[in-house]
Parts: sequence; structure tokens; C-alpha cells
Amino acid sequence: MDALNGPTVATSRLQLVVSGHVDHGKSTLVGRLLADTGSLPVGKLEQVRALCGRTSKPFEYAFLLDALKDERAQGITIDAARVFFKSAARHYVILDAPGHIEFLRNMITGAARAEAALLVIDAHEGVQENSRRHATMLSMLGVRQMAVVVNKMDLAGYRRETFEAVVKAFGAFLAELGLSATAWIPVSARHGGNVAERSHEMPWYPGPTVLEALDAFEPDRPAPDRPFRMPVQDVYKFTNLGDARRIVAGTVESGRASVGDELVFYPSGKRARLETVEAFSSPERVGIEAGQAAGVTLTPQIFTGRGELATRADQTAPRVTSRLRVRLFWLGRDPLVPRKDYLFKLGSARVPMRVEAIHRVVDASDLADLGGRDEVERHQVAECTLKLQRSVAFDVSADLAVTGRFVIVDAHDIRGGGSVAEALPDRAEELRSKVLLRNAKWVPSDVSTERRAQRYSQRPTLVLVTGEPDADRKGLARDLEARLFETGRLVYFLGMGSVLYGVDADLARGRDERREHFRRLAEVANILLDAGMILIVSAAELTQDDLDVLKTSLPPELIYTVWVGEQVTTDLGCDFVLTEAERERRGADALKTLLEDERVTFRPW
Ligand code: GDP
Repeated sequence: MDALNGPTVATSRLQLVVSGHVDHGKSTLVGRLLADTGSLPVGKLEQVRALCGRTSKPFEYAFLLDALKDERAQGITIDAARVFFKSAARHYVILDAPGHIEFLRNMITGAARAEAALLVIDAHEGVQENSRRHATMLSMLGVRQMAVVVNKMDLAGYRRETFEAVVKAFGAFLAELGLSATAWIPVSARHGGNVAERSHEMPWYPGPTVLEALDAFEPDRPAPDRPFRMPVQDVYKFTNLGDARRIVAGTVESGRASVGDELVFYPSGKRARLETVEAFSSPERVGIEAGQAAGVTLTPQIFTGRGELATRADQTAPRVTSRLRVRLFWLGRDPLVPRKDYLFKLGSARVPMRVEAIHRVVDASDLADLGGRDEVERHQVAECTLKLQRSVAFDVSADLAVTGRFVIVDAHDIRGGGSVAEALPDRAEELRSKVLLRNAKWVPSDVSTERRAQRYSQRPTLVLVTGEPDADRKGLARDLEARLFETGRLVYFLGMGSVLYGVDADLARGRDERREHFRRLAEVANILLDAGMILIVSAAELTQDDLDVLKTSLPPELIYTVWVGEQVTTDLGCDFVLTEAERERRGADALKTLLEDERVTFRPW
């Protein structure tokens, strides 16, 4: 059970973010911490001092940081953004400041996560815009453990009243955010007072030094009582010939799971038992827990993939929906606006999104309510409703912060981030609960999906051939079926008429019943896909709503949409458009090649 024991004190490490307004003394404080804890490379302090002497520049502790970073940037280590130091109690890693995109990226991807924060405020200048902005961002990301360093006390004559004025002003602001500091420390980073050593100039202060306050922070220990959450990053095949097992890989964000536990994957709701934990060159593991990167195998082997969230069946289920009420902050130069497409990233899920509504906009630096607005500008915080193109699995931040954080990407760059406050009902809610129940009750075959895929040299796939009413969709679908069949594929063309008068015999044909028709089609498709088939369905003028029903009911990555005709006349997002001319010239060949390119069909070796 070794792997389940938390790290011991000697090797424990705390990830820390140091934030504050520019020039309030962050770098000086960090330089001091490095120097006073003996964490600098031998001779570094003397080297920087000597350099300052030669160039007649007064020595600054902040230069130590620059010197370290320069050294790293020259390739000694790739880790230029992080600084390390240690106290007698443990090691510390200082991360990027919260105003930086890199910090956000790390917080969301788990590359590095702040467990605690030091907020530095200049006693002389008092609380400034960024002091407040950063506190707001940290609170939204769920970093709730913080100490406030009131710096440059020497400039304030070490006066208690100056210190207390800052405590009062900033304490009130933190309270508005629902935060409280574990310590308020009057400091002179330049002279080293109350950093590692107690200051003799401030005998009126009875509290801890910065180093003591740091050592008092609680590390974010994996809490075994929290629900198990592991976003699926990828699914790998064993490379051994004849070994059809698949490894589901990810990093555990919360809780723990042991071999034998029943797991549920969301949004699909598929269930499987945790069969083995695969570890490289380490003894056989029987469990995985928060903070560990893991690869697991499942029984039965279900279809899951990147974007799903693995959870334990005996614990609280996550939320699943495509509409979210969120609190976010915006860092993009261009404002966040409705009716524009963005990419939403949460856990391992990446989904196109739009802003459905902006409910409230607040200035992040003073929390002043700017009222309902039609856009969110840089450095503003907003409460919004987001509409995602598909549902995702997550937790609301009040339940579990790590799986409730997200970022918003525009033009390949992170522009904002925040946390989910509430899961809102969406159109697919009723349908989704049916699908979840169906997947929970599904009677799995002993022949795994993977073995079928190997036998037939194909992935189960639904090809939807659609287009304008007079386009020859059926002809194309039939051609494709024939071409695939000739090459030995397990393939079937299903015309809508075959469903309408059979499975749908009891259903009316109006607009109101359209979703139910598609739901039933999806259920038929689900069985045939489970049997390993490539299923080709043709239907006139499919809409995005029709496709949403299919994508809610079936693994979305198994669906391809092909539009036949000059232009797409509905709101459908298509994977492939084939003009009539192309259809006549290349027809089914084009689609056959598409399926090969997408590795739906492959050679048996
Ligand atoms: P940062 O922008 O927050 O990283 O701030 P720096 O650490 O670069 O400090 C900005 C300026 O404030 C530098 O000139 C420092 O020497 C000065 N400074 C930092 N801490 C103190 C302090 O405790 N007392 C005084 N008098 N100056 C300080």
C-alpha cells in the first residue's frame, strides 16, 4: 500500500504563489527568502554583490532572482518560471504570479498548482489595484490559504498604526471575497526584518515571521474522503501483439480508487471495474490517489476517451450539462462577448462554447458592481451563463475546486478563466438521464469492443450522410456500403424508412416528435455500434439539434457527418462537405479515404 501513503515531511513540498502590485517588493522578498534560508547556489550572493560593486549599482535582493532566472534561461534547466527554496520544515516552489496566463494554464492543467499565496503590500503605498485583483483571482481559483506581507515597514518608520491601517483596509476587502489571511506580517524585505529573522524594530508585533507563516501553511494533501476524480487524458493500446487491453491514462485530481472499485465515466455514464494499475518500473500498485499520474485497465473494456471524467460509483456523481453558471475573470485584450465562438477547457475536455448571458460584471480591483453588460473587459470579473456545444462533467466549485476550474481560449490563447458556480439545466437534460440509466444498466458482452475492432479491422462508427432534399444521399450511402463491404468490412446502410415504420410505428411525424425519432435512431445505432459495425444512415437536412440528440446518446467521437451539396443549408456543423460534382466524380471513394485517414478502417497488421 506504499503508493497510497502521502509524502513524508522530509520530502514535502508546498507550491506557493507570491502576488502583489508592481514594486511592492515581491522579488526582494523572494530574494531574501532564498538568501536567508541558504537556498542559493554557493557563491551566488557574493557574485551578485560583486557585480553590483563593479557597476556601482546598489545591491538589491531582487537581482538574485534575475540572476537565477538568467542562468536558467541559458539552458541549465528549462524551469525558468519557477524558483525553489527550502526551510527546515520543507521545500517550496514559487510559481508565476496570478496575473500571468501561465499561472492560469498551470492551475487548470495541474502542471503546477498553488496551494497557498503570499500577498505583498507596500506599507507606504497601501493597498493598490493589483493587490486586490490578484486576491480576487486567487479566490476564484480556490486558493484560499494566504498570508499578507505588509512590506517596506522601514519606510513607514516601523509604525504599528501604518501596519494596522493596511490590515484594516485589506482585511475588509478579503472579507468581501469570503477570504481571511492566516497571518498578517509587518516586514522589511530589504533589511530582512520578520522574513526569516524576527525584527528588533517592531517589538510590538507578536506574530510569526514570513518563514514561520509559510511553514504553518497546510499542504493540499490528497483528501481520501473527497470523491475520486480522474480526467481521462488518453487511452493507449498495449503494443504487445495479441494483447487487446487498453490503458486509460490521466492524473488523479481528487480522492482515491483501488483495484476492484466500480468506476463510472462521465459524461457517458459508462461503468467498468478498475482491473489493474499500470506503473512503469514500480511494484504492482493496488490503488491510485490524488496527485498521481496513472494508467489503469478496466473490465469490461468500455469506450471512453479524452474529455471524460472517471469517478467512483459509490461516491457523489459529478455534474453533467452543457449550460453552466460561472464566475470568470477576463485577461484578453479583446472583450469577452456573446455570439462569438470560444473554446472551453475543463479537466481534459475541450468544447466549443458561447456566452449565453452576462449577468453581472465587477471590477476585479474594487469589486464595484458595473451592472449587467454586454461584454466583459480585461481585468473584469463577471458572472455569466456559458453554453457549451456538448455537455461536460465537472464539480461546482463549492463542492470540489479542482474539477470546477476552467479556462477560455480564443485564437489558441488562454484569455480568461474561472470556476463553475452552478450546473444549469439544458435541453438534453431529460435525454441525458435516459442515456445515463441505459449505460448503467447495459449488459456488457464478454467479447470486448477492442477484440471486435481487431477482428474486423475497424472502429465502430456512425456515418451520417445528409444534404438538401434533392441531393442523392441514399445513392452515396449505398455506394459507400458496397465499397466497404467489398473490402470485407462489417457495414450496414440503414435508411430512415426502416426505422420510421418499425421502431417508430407508434410515433406521430410532427415537429414535436422529431427529437424522439432521433433518440430512437440513436438507440438502434448504439446497439449496432456496440456490435462493432460501421453504420451508414442517410437523412435529409439534418440540423444541429438532431445531431445533438445523437451526440448525447452515443459516443460523439464515433460520429461523422457528411453533407452532400454545394452549401450547408441548415445550422449543422459538418465534418465533411461533398459537392454534387465531387459526389459524381469520386463519390464513395472520397468517404472511404476519409474513413481510412481517420483510422476508422485499418489494415489488420
Ligand atoms: P516587485 O515589483 O514587487 O518584485 O518589487 P521589487 O522587489 O523589485 O522591489 C521594488 C523596489 O522596492 C526595489 O527598489 C526594492 O529595493 C524596494 N523594496 C523592496 N522591499 C523593500 C523594503 O522592505 N524596504 C524598502 N525601503 N524598499 C524595499
